[in-house]
Amino acid sequence: MSVRVRFAPSPTGALHIGGVRTALYNYLFAKRHHGKFILRIEDTDQNRLVDGAEDYIKNSLKWVGLMPDEGPEIGGECGPYRQSERLDIYKKYADALVESGKAYLAFDTQEALESARTKAEAAGGAFLYSAANRLSMRNSLAMDKDTLDKEISYGTPYTIRLKVEADQEVSFFDAIRGDVSFQSNGLDDKVLMKADGFPTYHLANIIDDHLMKITHVIRGEEWLPSTAHHILLYKAFGWEDTMPLFSHLPLILKPSGKGKLSKRDGDKLGIPVFPLSWERDGEETLNGFREAGFMPGAVLNFLALLGWNPGTEQEIMTLEELIDLFSLEKIGKSGSRFDFDKAKWFNHQYIMNASAEELFYMAGGEFVKAGLSFDEHKMLQVIDFVKERVTNTNEFLPMTHYFFEEVSEFEMEPILKKWNLQSAEVFSTIIGLLSAMQQFDASSIESVIKEEIARSGISFGAVFPALRVALTGGTKGPDLFRTIELIGQEEVVSRLEKGLQMYELNKIS
Ligand code: GLU
Repeated sequence: MSVRVRFAPSPTGALHIGGVRTALYNYLFAKRHHGKFILRIEDTDQNRLVDGAEDYIKNSLKWVGLMPDEGPEIGGECGPYRQSERLDIYKKYADALVESGKAYLAFDTQEALESARTKAEAAGGAFLYSAANRLSMRNSLAMDKDTLDKEISYGTPYTIRLKVEADQEVSFFDAIRGDVSFQSNGLDDKVLMKADGFPTYHLANIIDDHLMKITHVIRGEEWLPSTAHHILLYKAFGWEDTMPLFSHLPLILKPSGKGKLSKRDGDKLGIPVFPLSWERDGEETLNGFREAGFMPGAVLNFLALLGWNPGTEQEIMTLEELIDLFSLEKIGKSGSRFDFDKAKWFNHQYIMNASAEELFYMAGGEFVKAGLSFDEHKMLQVIDFVKERVTNTNEFLPMTHYFFEEVSEFEMEPILKKWNLQSAEVFSTIIGLLSAMQQFDASSIESVIKEEIARSGISFGAVFPALRVALTGGTKGPDLFRTIELIGQEEVVSRLEKGLQMYELNKIS
């Protein structure tokens, strides 16, 4: 049996980061078993469709590098992979269920259903369209053949409902949760086909999983209760023998650990909970990991461990390693806390291990947008030099712009406090020494500066920060000698000369 799994999102808005985790687990499982990872777009709920959502899903998968083997556009032997293009298939199967007595036509109006609901609630219960009351409703089981024929010939709108038999135990095995069972008396006669001719999620999902030869269903915990109906549908169709193995993934919890992570947590805490930003006129913007400066590999690594654990201490894993180690048995049952600090930690690790070229590919656009002109070779050297201090790629520009342009703001106060005649003299001598150097590399620069400071007897702290502020604007940064080398001799001398003038003009006398 060759493994076939599917990621089956509904294009009803931006794909939550939990959806990316579902896609990832499906992908890892497929690749682990040399199987196929299929993308299926579940767009049968016409009222909830959102423009651009399908593209968003595809772009998100592309960004993290989870490319489907089959799907809309890509094609495959079980297409089409967009449910709205398969309506005739669903109709055929729904009609077959009615024919075999496993489903029936229901003509109840919205008002009639509403009133049944109100009545049940008034009596302290909840309305469940089921074996207990279906004969008192308007459906093909409750009416005689003549009435039924009339309703059909009048064109009265109807839905198709699954006939759930009373007093049955519906059980299945879940690879993460073990044996799960439901009592059929608590299950309603689910609508399978809506009056508009579109199938519901349940019907389309089961038919497609069957026709697409899906062997394993790996999806979020929120679908666990629906699985009871899915099992009944497999039985109704006579497809139990090839029913997929179910795995319901644990929830992703809020950073506080209390409750499910929601879209609102992103706004409240100012953290991304979506892979890519989602911007729409008149809607609030949802922040994405990509725009927050995350490396896709880091996001995948972080998500992989959010609910799954290979049972070793190793945390940094390439996609190949994840594929190698992945197994459904090592997925936990309980929810996993969305720890954004941990996500940042992963990103920092990935940035440190990335090549300058890769980082430039991600961050270079910001430099161009900021109007900086730069030499690419120097840019790559600078990126390599600072990357261990960077936790997201958006930090490259603010952290390194001074390598490529003059500085206009200076943290002068701490310098001026210590500035005196002697520091001015040593500073000026250093400018002369630097400008006379033949070989302008970090270690020669280090010797020149250190020797001069030692010779003068002045404290290191009286000159060193003054050099840094004049060159970079701030008192903190990476190794100063290498910084000087990378800024370049001519530019360094010019900035230090301006710095000297600036300190002298502003000195506290
Ligand atoms: N369309 C469902 C969703 O949006 C798919 C659930 C499933 O994988 O069965 O998540």
